Amino acid sequence: MQLVVLAGGVGGARFVRGLRALVRRDRPGAAITVIANTGDDLWLAGLRVTPDLDSLMYALAGVNDEERGWGRAGETERVSAELTAYGVGWPWFTLGDLDLGTHIARTSLLKDGLPLSAVVERLTTRWPLGVRLLPATDDEVETHVRTAEGTMHFEEWWVRTRAALPALGFEQRGVERATAAPGVPEAILGADVVLIAPSNPVVSIGTILGIPGVREALEATSAPVVGLSPVIGGAVVRGMGDACLSAIGVATDAAAVARHYGARSAGGLLDGWLVDTVDEDAVEGLTAAGIATRAVPLRMTDDDATAAMAQAALDLAASR
Ligand code: GDP
Ligand code: CA
Repeated sequence: MQLVVLAGGVGGARFVRGLRALVRRDRPGAAITVIANTGDDLWLAGLRVTPDLDSLMYALAGVNDEERGWGRAGETERVSAELTAYGVGWPWFTLGDLDLGTHIARTSLLKDGLPLSAVVERLTTRWPLGVRLLPATDDEVETHVRTAEGTMHFEEWWVRTRAALPALGFEQRGVERATAAPGVPEAILGADVVLIAPSNPVVSIGTILGIPGVREALEATSAPVVGLSPVIGGAVVRGMGDACLSAIGVATDAAAVARHYGARSAGGLLDGWLVDTVDEDAVEGLTAAGIATRAVPLRMTDDDATAAMAQAALDLAASR
C-alpha cells in the first residue's frame, strides 16, 4: 500500500509520526511518502535553511526538541551569538549550533550541484526515517507576505512580528519557473491513498498545491484524497495559523477549511475530511456538499492518539 502525505513542518511531523506508528503496528507492508512544504525556505547568513523539511527530519529521527516544539534537542546557540555580534543574520531568528550543522551540510551539497531532493536523501541517510521525504519542489519558491509595512519573507512575518502585523496577502516568489520535484507527481499518481495532514492550509498545504504539477497530479490520481482538519472548535490548536486563514478570507472553522479545499467532485481537492468530535455539526453539510466527512478526536497528544486519527482517515478513504 502506497500512502502519500502532504505536510508542513511541526504539525505535519506530528501527524506523520502517528501514521508511521500505525503502519509499523498494523500495516508493515505499507510505504509512506511525505511531500513537504518548501515555501518557508530561505537564505540566511549564507546558508540555505529549510524549516519544514528539518522539522520533519528531526521529529521522525527522534532528535527534535519536544518541549520547545521545534529544532534539535540539547541545542546550544554559541554560533548564533557570534553571528549576532557581527550583525549577520536575523537576531530574532536563532539558529542552534546543531541545526547550523545541518544547514552547512545542506548548503555544501547544494553548492556541489545536487538538487534539494537529492540533498534531503543524503541528509536523511544518517537517520533512517521509515518514510520517504520529498520536498515539493527543487526550485527556490519562497512565500512572501504583503503587509502595510511592506512585503517580507514569511519567516520574518511569522517569527519577528509573530504574525501580529496583519497580512494582506501571500506570494509564492519564483513559482512561475518552478516544477514539482522528481518523484512528487509519480508518488501522487501511484498512491493508494493521499492524506492532507492537519497542517496550515495556507502557507503549508496551500504552498504545496501551488507548485506546478502537484494539483494536476491530485486531480488525475485514482487514489482517494482525505484531509484532517487543523482547526478544532474554531481554533488552530497551536501557533498563529488563524492569521493566515483570515488573510485569505477563510474563517477559522473546520468546515470553512474543507470548503476552501473544495470537493474533488466539484473541481476541488477533497474526497473526504475529518473534523474533531466537537465539530460534529459540520458533518452533514459537508457530506451533502460532496466531501465525505466524519467526526473523530483530532488532538495529536501522542503517537497513539495520532495513529488513531490516521486510521480513521484510512477507514474513510476505504469507504469511498
Ligand atoms: P508548521 O509548518 O510548523 O507551522 O506546521 P504545519 O503547517 O504542519 O502545522 C501547523 C498547524 O497544525 C497549526 O496551524 C494547527 O492548525 C495544526 N495543529 C497543531 N496541533 C494540532 C493538533 O493536535 N490537532 C490538529 N487537528 N491540528 C493541529
Ligand atoms: Ca512551516
